[in-house]
Amino acid sequence: MSRRIYFDNAATTPIDPLVFEAMKPFFTDHFGNPSSIYSYGRESRLAIENARKKVASLLGAHPAEIFFTSGGTESSNTAIHGAVHQLGCKRIISSKIEHHATLHTCEYFQKHAGIELEWVHLLPDGHIDLADLEKRLSSSPKKTLVTLMHANNELGNITDIKAVGELCKKYNAVYHADTVQTVGHYPIDLSQLEVDFITASSHKFHGPKGIGILYMRSSAKIDPYIHGGGQERNMRAGTENIYGIVGFTKALELALENLASEKNHIEGVKNYLKERLLKQFAGIVFNGDTQDNSLYTVLSVGFPLNDKTEMLLFNLDVNHVCVSGGSACSSGANQGSHVIQALNLPPQSTVRFSFSKYNTKEEVDRLMDVLGSVA
Ligand code: PLP
Repeated sequence: MSRRIYFDNAATTPIDPLVFEAMKPFFTDHFGNPSSIYSYGRESRLAIENARKKVASLLGAHPAEIFFTSGGTESSNTAIHGAVHQLGCKRIISSKIEHHATLHTCEYFQKHAGIELEWVHLLPDGHIDLADLEKRLSSSPKKTLVTLMHANNELGNITDIKAVGELCKKYNAVYHADTVQTVGHYPIDLSQLEVDFITASSHKFHGPKGIGILYMRSSAKIDPYIHGGGQERNMRAGTENIYGIVGFTKALELALENLASEKNHIEGVKNYLKERLLKQFAGIVFNGDTQDNSLYTVLSVGFPLNDKTEMLLFNLDVNHVCVSGGSACSSGANQGSHVIQALNLPPQSTVRFSFSKYNTKEEVDRLMDVLGSVA
């Protein structure tokens, strides 16, 4: 049995065996191309359309508003591209702590399409300053895209997407919310939200990698981002990832079915780690909002910076503990988390611990033993 401790579930999660079981027949028996007209093809088509209906019903959407993509990055690129090219957005308001899938896409349009890009002010704990957002929305008649994530993958902070949506509606702005860290972890009822686009990625909730969705509100019509065949009702060309689609749907179904008990379990593990860290380390801080509006799956910890903690990520890895310094892209190199930098925090050695239903308090005990020697 692996002695590794995996506390990096915001980067990716292991697949649930039930999800894998549901996917298997689509690797073997149901291999038909959904665009083929004979029975193999029709069976695949049916599986996709049933999956779309299921996902839509789980998220309070209409099936025609759900598009399967390769994941969160493609979904956000598609939404931002469409908002600029088809919905006439000339200005983007975003935040400096978005995932790079959003941040770099916005910067691309600023550089190559002359789009005005503004950063909303952040409160000291990393929450979005809604008053500043409203001030910016009211200050210009330019058609604006607001792209603000639902929950931050490094800090855990949760933004009130209902409130942001209402502001966007008031000022006639397009709203894209990166919900990659919340779909499958929180109930989301799109029929109650003023949001034009949301995104999801199944590898964040025990589904396969390389499959996600873009929700596009029926009123927000955009052109495809990927051109070719007419798949996904002409919105996303390319032969469908059927086993991925089936896996995404099964993973979402299971996650939402068991949400309350899993949340309770994960919160128990997270709070236990917090308690033990506070007892064992003087001068430790928790980054972001670690109280009310924060993911139960994420704990961002600032260890006091010294000779030992400078090498913390490396030493944790040597001791078979898998964690990140920030997002997965910067894991292993304890430098340059753009999120931590944006908060202007005093120097610290940042470790993001992120949890899943498979983690236990016993793993926290083992982690604390390791930390006792390396921090
Ligand atoms: N947005 C957030 C908040 C994420 O955490 C991630 C994954 O790290 C992504 C977007 C990108 O998703 P994907 O890996 O499916 O492209």
